Amino acid sequence: MSEIYLYDSLSNKKRKFEPIDQNHVRIYACGPTVYNYAHIGNARMAVVFDSFVRLLRNKYPKVTYVSNITDIDDKIIEAANESNIPINELTKKYTDIYNADMSYLNVLHPDIQPKATEYVEDMINFIDKLIQKDKAYEKDGHVFFHVPSHEGYGKLSNREIDQQLAGSRVQVSDIKKNQQDFVLWKPSSKSQPGWESPWGIGRPGWHTECCVMSEVNLKIPFDIHGGGQDLLFPHHENEIAQSCASVNSDNPEDYAKYWIHNGFVTIDGEKMSKSLNNIILLNDLLKEHDGETIRLALLSSHYRKSLDWNENVIKQSKVLLDKVYDFLDTCDDDPEGEIDESLMENFSNDLDIPKVLTSINELLKNKNSSSPGTIKQSLLFAGSILGVFDKKPSEWNMQIEISDSELAEIEKLINERKTLKENKDFTGADAIRDSLLEKGVELIDSEDGTTWKYKS
Ligand SMILES: [Zn+2]
Repeated sequence: MSEIYLYDSLSNKKRKFEPIDQNHVRIYACGPTVYNYAHIGNARMAVVFDSFVRLLRNKYPKVTYVSNITDIDDKIIEAANESNIPINELTKKYTDIYNADMSYLNVLHPDIQPKATEYVEDMINFIDKLIQKDKAYEKDGHVFFHVPSHEGYGKLSNREIDQQLAGSRVQVSDIKKNQQDFVLWKPSSKSQPGWESPWGIGRPGWHTECCVMSEVNLKIPFDIHGGGQDLLFPHHENEIAQSCASVNSDNPEDYAKYWIHNGFVTIDGEKMSKSLNNIILLNDLLKEHDGETIRLALLSSHYRKSLDWNENVIKQSKVLLDKVYDFLDTCDDDPEGEIDESLMENFSNDLDIPKVLTSINELLKNKNSSSPGTIKQSLLFAGSILGVFDKKPSEWNMQIEISDSELAEIEKLINERKTLKENKDFTGADAIRDSLLEKGVELIDSEDGTTWKYKS
């Protein structure tokens, strides 16, 4: 079976993936800060890492995937104040919506999804350890990490300290010893959420959260740490500094062995930003397109490159799905055939999905040069890592007869119902089932999840 090669942002090269423990691969990816609906940048990260995890699961006996929820942050406090909703209600609402939206994209729930607020005590202990080691200091209720005390600082982002100064827009604070020092703990006012600590009532800094949640759940060093490219500096650099300092090391691999970053999503060639008012929320997108189409579109450009989101990307994704399901519709249930070897080779080569998609198009174009069994087995194999092609062809074709928006609405409600059931809100879950039944849509629950059919 092909060896897996990954582009490692730490060494800036493609490296053969050799897990620390062959019997248990451990991976962590920074999840969302929950104060609003997820946008397609969040969705791309979730889908990319989900496909990585599917690839690793294909090769290794056990994979533990941890992806966190940041549920304490200044942006959350601001949003809660603006909307006049208690913070825990706001974060619960957007966590549930995030998880429902991701399941709609066929993103498997991480094995562990830690929430920052549940780890504050561990964070306090972690910060205390850094103070004991003279890597951090307290000042006026704040605790800062002292960057010059850490030899290896800058290895991930390849920045010299001077450059960091030049690129920094952070205001010089009088209470910091050094401009690059970053906050591990900050004081909370009475109206802000806070926890008791040796430094007074306060809350943890974002960079500390991931160090603690990854270490508690995976132990360090673990194999892969990832996230969006925008997190590389300062978030991941600062994570490395703290976690390595906590074990007296200046080698980033003593925290995580490989670092993976996915590229940005641009909208019609422009950066997605609040000021350009072009942020696309997944929740809106799901009203127009089904999750499988969106997922395939999100995977259509190489994960490290930026992905330009436009009508064409969605169209191409739908055309390919139509072709695949049309073909599967002509196949026997379980035909014999060999999986095309190039597929695993391309997945294993730093998750080269564009090449996989080219192979799929070729297979379908030259239908007569391979047996139907070979093509079907190859498509299903590729689909198992891409997270697509797992509907019955009749289900896919049925959705063509109803409008995309109707279908999306049904699937969205199914996902909302699933979340409600997970949260033991059975009354809410039943209300969704009944409202669909009134529209002639019958839900069928099974061990594999929920499907639906028109009531006969
Ligand atoms: Zn993080």
